Amino acid sequence: MAHTESKVVVITGASSGIGEATAKFLAERGDKVVLGARREQRLQKLVEEIKRAGGSAIYHVTDVTSRSEVEALAKLALDEYGQIDVWVNNAGLMPHSTFDKLKVDEWERMVDVNIKGVLYGIAAALPSMRERKSGQFINLSSVAGHKTHPGGGVYSGTKYAVRAISEALRQEEAVAQSNIRVTIVSPGAVATELPNSITDQDLKPGIDQLYEAVAISATRIAETIAFAIDAPVDTSLNEIIVRPTMQQ
Ligand code: NDP
Repeated sequence: MAHTESKVVVITGASSGIGEATAKFLAERGDKVVLGARREQRLQKLVEEIKRAGGSAIYHVTDVTSRSEVEALAKLALDEYGQIDVWVNNAGLMPHSTFDKLKVDEWERMVDVNIKGVLYGIAAALPSMRERKSGQFINLSSVAGHKTHPGGGVYSGTKYAVRAISEALRQEEAVAQSNIRVTIVSPGAVATELPNSITDQDLKPGIDQLYEAVAISATRIAETIAFAIDAPVDTSLNEIIVRPTMQQ
């Protein structure tokens, strides 16, 4: 599937990992990327790098737990580029812990960022996509959105939720009839900063070990996202699971 037209792609959580790799990959082939995250210096540096390489990029400091900040990110894309072709709900965190540790603040944080952040993204982009009768949501779930394990209950819960939300969105008439595609991307272990949010020291070494042993490059996920974008508009890749060959 060749990349034929330049698209306006909004990416949340673009300051590191999969979001950053996706921004670079898409910008390099001519897409206009609109980047959101909380760490402004990282976004600034990334936008400069993309522009130096001849690409188009802008950013807005965005905490996805704030509906108004997510709305402002969408507004920036519409004001600067006139449309939103693709919205990538990528921001997320994974502070695994077992329930007995009662890390309730971390549970809440995961619900706020991994679920509510996605919902705010949908709310921000859906109206203009419906108006144009064109668009695509790419929502980051996970292999953990298919199976769970001790210590991964809340994270998995949020990623199962992303799949449920995405699947219902895809099926709704007002969405499908507006030619809006919905794609779930579910990675396995990818070498990013994601495990840094784990504060449960009983779990962290094992997870670090797994990532060191098998994790694949974030660029592989960027390529997967590009593949989903490039499918003909009458064809919706509903979900792509992409994991290291060595991961069970
Ligand atoms: P990183 O930790 O490298 O990136 C996470 C990104 O999310 C950062 O840019 C961070 O930016 C952003 N973020 C976190 N909280 C917020 C917030 N409140 N508002 C806005 N942005 C926020 O991890 P990954 O790149 O790996 O993660 C990206 C997505 O991929 C996540 O949804 C994750 O669950 C999913 N995923 C990752 C896997 C992996 O193994 N790496 C496997 C499966 C799924 P900032 O701190 O600047 O706000």
